[in-house]
Amino acid sequence: MSELHKFLFDGMPVRGMIVRLTEAWQEILARRASNTSTGAYPTPVAELLGEMTAAATLMQANIKFNGALILQIFGDGPVKVAVAEVKPDLSLRATAKVVGELASDAHLPEMVNVSNKGRCAITLDPKDKLPGQQPYQGVVPLHGDSGEKLGRLSEVLQHYMLQSEQLDTTLVLAADDKVAAGLLIQRLPVKGEANLEGTAAGDRNQANEDQIGHNEDYNRISILASTLTRDELLTLDVETILRRLFWEEKLLRFEPQSGMLGPHFACTCGRERVAQMIRGLGVEEAEGILVERGDIEVGCDFCGKQYRFDAVDVAQLFTAPGDQLPASPVMQ
Ligand SMILES: [Zn+2]
Repeated sequence: MSELHKFLFDGMPVRGMIVRLTEAWQEILARRASNTSTGAYPTPVAELLGEMTAAATLMQANIKFNGALILQIFGDGPVKVAVAEVKPDLSLRATAKVVGELASDAHLPEMVNVSNKGRCAITLDPKDKLPGQQPYQGVVPLHGDSGEKLGRLSEVLQHYMLQSEQLDTTLVLAADDKVAAGLLIQRLPVKGEANLEGTAAGDRNQANEDQIGHNEDYNRISILASTLTRDELLTLDVETILRRLFWEEKLLRFEPQSGMLGPHFACTCGRERVAQMIRGLGVEEAEGILVERGDIEVGCDFCGKQYRFDAVDVAQLFTAPGDQLPASPVMQ
């Protein structure tokens, strides 16, 4: 089951989190794979999207914000856009648009940063927007300060965290066709979070900036975290990972979150919504598509799930409720 674990390092200004997405991640891949117009994600795209989904879950769980966190990459290569969205209840979905060919061993630059124009955006979209309120969005390039292309998503996001929150952050991310996982280690703000609202914001930022890269506890724990390999992150359970990495540290653990309280897949699409849309087209247009293509296929833009209506399904949509045929089985 997908799970999220939060912990603190006792007496030190350092917190951590591990996320392991299993069935939630497999659902994202399965929806895409069963879509006959796109087919499954190429392996490198699946790995990138899995890392994005794990990272977005960690970032959502790391903030107190009542709204969706949306992590997007706008690429200048074959991957035009990749999106992972996580809501405060840790429901998540993800998708990517791929155009053209991709080498099976492509890395981040070949996928989304061919001409060094790729961008990564983090959007916080409030659930209950006030009139005129815009979502907050931060954008970072996919290159370092000297223009060098970054090879890993974790480097891009560490850069973002440092810029946007003035907090040292270490991320280890990995994904394959079964698991998408991530470890986050972050230095806590120098003063309590309550001060974020206070008037001493200038002092706080100064105190924080002075600590960047200089907190010995954080630096030691960050080095330990960085030794975690992709294989270990994907195959070991959370207890084993924490024991191997931090056996000399005293951890304060929070109750792990799993099931409906943990990360879980959810998309707002559904067969009935698509049926409404086809009804909206009108009987003539719907039958026109049937003549041309044999059936009507509609894919969800947010999760890739494809809904298929054949001639019998469509006839039913336009039949008065009283004389409907028995319901046909739902396509999976
Ligand atoms: Zn959907």
